[in-house]
Amino acid sequence: MSKKNKAPTRETNVSTKVNNSKVKTKLNGGVFTYTGAISVGELATALGVASSDIIKFLFLQKKMITINTVLDDELIGTICLEFGYDFEKKVIVEAENFEDLVIEDDPTKLVERPPVVTVMGHVDHGKTTLIDAIRNSNVAAGEVGGISQEIGAYQKEINGKKITFIDTPGHEAFTAMRSRGASVTDIVILVVAADDGVMPQTVEAIDHAKAAGVPIVVAINKMDKPGVDPNRVKNELMQHDVIPEDFGGDAVCVEISAKQKKNIDALLEAVLFIAELKELKANPDRYAMGTVLEAKLDKNEGPKATLLIQNGTMKTGDFLVVGTSYGKARRMTNEFKKVLSEATPSTPVSVIGLTEVPEAGDRFMAFAEESEARTIATKRKQIKESKTRNATSAASLEDLFNKIHEGEVQNINIIIKADSTGSAEAVKSSLEKLTNDEIKINIIRATAGGITESDVLLASASNAIIYGFNVRPDARTRAKAEEEKVEIRLHRIIYALIEEIQAAMKGMLAPTMVEKVIGQAEVRRLFKVSKLGTIAGCMIIDGSIKNNARIRVLREGIIVYEGKLASLQREKDQVKEVKNGYECGMLVENFNDIKEGDIIEASEMVEEKGE
Ligand code: GDP
Repeated sequence: MSKKNKAPTRETNVSTKVNNSKVKTKLNGGVFTYTGAISVGELATALGVASSDIIKFLFLQKKMITINTVLDDELIGTICLEFGYDFEKKVIVEAENFEDLVIEDDPTKLVERPPVVTVMGHVDHGKTTLIDAIRNSNVAAGEVGGISQEIGAYQKEINGKKITFIDTPGHEAFTAMRSRGASVTDIVILVVAADDGVMPQTVEAIDHAKAAGVPIVVAINKMDKPGVDPNRVKNELMQHDVIPEDFGGDAVCVEISAKQKKNIDALLEAVLFIAELKELKANPDRYAMGTVLEAKLDKNEGPKATLLIQNGTMKTGDFLVVGTSYGKARRMTNEFKKVLSEATPSTPVSVIGLTEVPEAGDRFMAFAEESEARTIATKRKQIKESKTRNATSAASLEDLFNKIHEGEVQNINIIIKADSTGSAEAVKSSLEKLTNDEIKINIIRATAGGITESDVLLASASNAIIYGFNVRPDARTRAKAEEEKVEIRLHRIIYALIEEIQAAMKGMLAPTMVEKVIGQAEVRRLFKVSKLGTIAGCMIIDGSIKNNARIRVLREGIIVYEGKLASLQREKDQVKEVKNGYECGMLVENFNDIKEGDIIEASEMVEEKGE
C-alpha cells in the first residue's frame, strides 16, 4: 500500500525532528508558549512588540539587557504579563526518552479503555485457580482448547465490557515491572483465603499496591469451605489499613469460591465498578505505545514479545522501538492465536518481527517510518550504554542529602525492618513525626523480621531506603541490594537512626566512620568443651572472618548477640583470618547460647568514601 492511501493518519507520539528544533514559539489566543531559553529579540518578535520596548521596560526595573540577552523563565513571565500575554512553558521530551513523555490527548478523542488487572495474594490462597476460573468462564465454544498459554495476558468480557488480566499472579512480576519504572496495572485483585486469613504475602501485596497507588478489590476466596468467616478476613484487613466497604471504608470485598467458580461474575463487576471510578481512557487515534509484558526467543519465529498497548492503536506493519532495539510488527496475535490487523488500548498482543528479545518492563513505541524507529533505537542504545557505565545508586542516603539540598526531593520513602513488631511500630511512629512542611517521610513497609529480597525489590520499585533495626540482611539479600542499587542502613539504637534521618533532612551528611560487613559464617555443628564453653563449627559463606573483628550472632536475620570472638581456629591452630569456603571453629566471647543454623557476621569500621 502506498503511503498516500494510508488515511486517516494516526497522530504520532514523538518525532525525531523535535531534536533539531530550535526554540518554538506560538501565540495562542493571548498565551505565549515557549519551550526553552529565548533571547529578547526572539521574544519581541513572538509577542509582536519592539525589542526596544522590552529593553526600556526592564531598564526601568534596573535590569540592563540587550537584544541578545537570553531570558530566564522568570523574566519571560514578567515581560509577557507586562505586554498583556499569559505564558506557558512546554517541556520538550527528546524523542529517545519516550518513557518521560506525557501525552496530552485531545479530550474529544479519548475513549474508555479496559482496566488492566493483576492478581496478588499469599501462596496457596487460590490465585492460579482464580485466574483459570476467570479465563475459562463463559468461553465461547470455538475458543475452548484454542487458549494459548504463550501469551502472558488475556481479556475477558463481562456485561459487554472488557477486562485485561495479567497472567502471572503474585507481586514479583508486579514489582519487577515497577522497579523498571513501568506501571501496567490499574487494579489489583487481592486473593485472601477465608480459612487462612491475612498472611505475610497478603500484607506484602497490600504494601505493593499501596506504594503504586493502585486500588485493591479483595476476593475472599474458598468460601465453599465449611465454617469459614469472611468477617475475620475483613477484620484482619482493617489492621493493614484496607477498610472494607461494610466497615465504612472504600475496599470492595467479594466472597468467592475460585474452585467452584462461584461469584466470579460479581468479582469482575466489582473490578468494572472501580474501573469506572478511575475513568480509564486512551486515544485509539495515535500510534501505539505501551510495555513489554514478557518476551522470548522462538526457535521458528525469532524474538516474540507480549506487548500491552497502553495508548494508541498498533497496526500490522508499524515500526516499533522496543527497549533499545527496533523492528516491525510483522504479525500480531491475541491469546487465542488469532491474527489481528490492529490492537487498541489495553489489548495484550503477541508480536513477531523484532530484531532482539526485549525484557519484561521495557517500553515500546510505534512509528510510521522505519528510519525514525532506527534513529531512536540507536540513540537509546547509546544512552543505555553510557548509563550502565555511570550507574549510580537509585536512592542512596547521600543522594537524598544532595537532592534535598537542591530542593528536588519532597518525599523520603523508607522501609523499616525490626526485631519485633513493637519496635517496627516504634521506629515507624518516631520517623513519621519527622515529616515537616518541606519533606514528607513515607513509611511504605514496617514489619518484624530479617531484611529479605522482597524488601529490596519493593525498595527498588519505590525508590526507598531500607532501615534495619536490630536485624540484618543475609548474603543473598545484600547481593541483591547491590545489584538493584538499594541502600540498606542498619542501626541498633532508635535515637541514632532518627538522628541520621534528621541530619539527612537538614542536608548534612552524617557519620564518616561506617560499619562494613566483611564476612558471614554459618554455624554447622556445636562442640561442647568443658573448660571453654560451646565452640561453633562454622563454614564461611561470604567474605572472610578475622579474629579481631566485631561480630554479631544472627538467628533468622535477627541479632541475638553482639561482641567479639574469643578464638578463631582452623583445625587445631589459632588463626587470624578464615576465608570464604573454609571451615573453622569459633568461640564467641561471653556467649554460650549459640545454635546450629545461626549466622556469625563479622564487621569492621571503615571511613566512608567521598566524605
Ligand atoms: P496460589 O498459590 O495462590 O496460586 O493457589 P492455587 O490456585 O494453586 O490454590 C491452592 C490450593 O487451594 C489448590 O489446592 C486449590 O485447589 C485450592 N483452592 C483454590 N481456590 C479454592 C476454593 O475456592 N475453594 C477450595 N476449597 N479450595 C480452593
